[in-house]
Amino acid sequence: MTIDLLNRSQALIVSQAGIHQTPRRVPKQNSSGAPSTLAFRKAYFPDAAVREWNDWRWQSRNRFRTFEQLDRVLVLSETERGALTEGGTMLPIGITPYYMSLLDPNDPDQPLRRTVIPTTSEFQRAPGEADDPLGEDGHSPVPGLVHRYPDRVLLLALDFCSTYCRYCTRSRVVGHGEIMASEDRLEKAFDYIRRNPQIRDVLVSGGDPLALSDEKLDWILGRLSEIPHIQFIRIGTKMPAVLPQRITPALCKTLRRHHPLWMSIHFLHPSECTPESVRACSRLANAGLPLGAQIVLLKGVNDSVEVMTDLCHRLLMMRVRPYYLYQCDPISGSSHFRTPVSKGLEIIQGMRGHTTGYAVPTFVIDAPGGGGKIPLLPEYYLGRDGDDVLLRNFEGDTYRYPDTAVE
Ligand SMILES: *Cc1c(COP(=O)(O)O)cnc(C)c1O
Repeated sequence: MTIDLLNRSQALIVSQAGIHQTPRRVPKQNSSGAPSTLAFRKAYFPDAAVREWNDWRWQSRNRFRTFEQLDRVLVLSETERGALTEGGTMLPIGITPYYMSLLDPNDPDQPLRRTVIPTTSEFQRAPGEADDPLGEDGHSPVPGLVHRYPDRVLLLALDFCSTYCRYCTRSRVVGHGEIMASEDRLEKAFDYIRRNPQIRDVLVSGGDPLALSDEKLDWILGRLSEIPHIQFIRIGTKMPAVLPQRITPALCKTLRRHHPLWMSIHFLHPSECTPESVRACSRLANAGLPLGAQIVLLKGVNDSVEVMTDLCHRLLMMRVRPYYLYQCDPISGSSHFRTPVSKGLEIIQGMRGHTTGYAVPTFVIDAPGGGGKIPLLPEYYLGRDGDDVLLRNFEGDTYRYPDTAVE
């Protein structure tokens, strides 16, 4: 056991060395994946064939869900152990063997580990936190459909994820068995969309819609594209990061039948950009899906200009365009993840102009109470001086723009 752990940490050190120096090209892709992944499979699933390990259904079946299972592969800290044995967290635990293979067994502060292993900090409720801070339930005309913006809706396809993020914005919903992918419920949602012709864009999320079978997804996407006023559909998922094995050629064949189809992928940290994840995104991009990344800004995970820039550079190499950087929602029990708003602004300021514009996401706060996403920018607009607009550039110098055009 000790030897296994040692080997694994060494493998991790190898695979994470130079993590903040983005490689010039995407790492070479092979079917067995990163060295750490391989070592983990050999240590903890010695009977699993490579074929099984690479099978997303096997990965789903073998998820880590209990204290005993986690205790076998991680040296648990006091606060992790407390959270796992006292229970009381409302969010279930689930981690795919693949994602577990990316965790550091000895370091509870490793960024990825912090995001999936609960700690007793989850039991603390800070001022301003709530179970449904975005007021999604209040904007829900039928169960699992959120209609906040006039022209687009969010459809929760199911409440299941293969891996649960500890800062989940829908922790009140996920894993509770209330939002099921039943035809009955979904038909009600389709009906609502059909009766509201101002809806032109449907975002299918959850839970993770890619946890559904290809057939079920095909049916949902087909029913939505039949609706004449739906111009395009997007899918929100974390699968390419937590279970890249889900992105099979068969899935891609199903998805490409429903173009224009876009995908928003949840990524957090450069160490998620493994050869497996690179391959998954490559398959999706080759199937013609424009890929965007949704990143949540988390304390001790990705809250620096260096880590965020490295992540966004890697994403661009994977043909994933950083879309939103979210301020962490005031979800109950998430204060240990929250950064001050100034941190997000500092990161954007450290990126804009200093690197490729495509690499810079839009920093947003999803307004508590249901106000929607509100973008924030560092102060580039300094005001006016007569006809001139005063502007600050990325290096902090002031420039004038003669704003003399008339309406
Ligand atoms: C984020 C979100 C959308 C999509 O917003 P975009 O800015 O168009 O990406 C739609 N509905 C809800 C409820 C959302 O939270």
